[in-house]
Amino acid sequence: MLKLLIATRNPGKLAELCRLMAGAPLELVSLADVGIDTDVDETGESFEANAALKASTYAQLANLPTLADDSGLEVRALAWEPGVRSARYAGDHATDSDRIAFLLQKLQNVGAGPWPARFRCVIAVVWSPDDLELHAGTCEGMIIDEPRGADGFGYDPVFFIPELGRTMAELSPSEKNRVSHRGKAARMAVRALKLRAG
Ligand code: IMP
Repeated sequence: MLKLLIATRNPGKLAELCRLMAGAPLELVSLADVGIDTDVDETGESFEANAALKASTYAQLANLPTLADDSGLEVRALAWEPGVRSARYAGDHATDSDRIAFLLQKLQNVGAGPWPARFRCVIAVVWSPDDLELHAGTCEGMIIDEPRGADGFGYDPVFFIPELGRTMAELSPSEKNRVSHRGKAARMAVRALKLRAG
């Protein structure tokens, strides 16, 4: 079976992407499986640019078809920050709770919550050096100032989805994948992949 490298160093994303891509007719391998521990600097100014950069770099290093995502949180009251800087928002060595605390502190200066926000994800799949495809997904919600829930990762505990009455961190992995930005982008990637496989 054809191998697909799932190129992320984020364990939360790796778990979600493997679950989401499990429906594709491919053998999924991780960076650890192929012995790659190189980091790629996310120098792009868009999710598309960074996803393409990560997928192309790791595809070249592993010599395998490769999938990478770039994703982040955009908050309307912060002029859609932190966006592509979501992972580095509170500094290079910050934890998820540091990033949440930093975000909530910034929001204290921009009026009362909850604050409209969205998660965005772009998945890049590189099949060969000049064969790259991009798939995008968005999930709309609100930032709340009291973290809730223990599932997921990143900003999930403060990302409230009004239609479900719960935060992302209060959803089971399969519930999150059904509504999330990454779930939407991954389902399009799987569809494209099945078409290629014939
Ligand atoms: P990057 O794609 O490696 O640049 O990291 C994106 C960052 O955005 C993550 O480290 C999280 O902080 C945040 N993020 C992306 N997707 C999610 C999600 O599904 N839940 C919570 N936070 C997310």
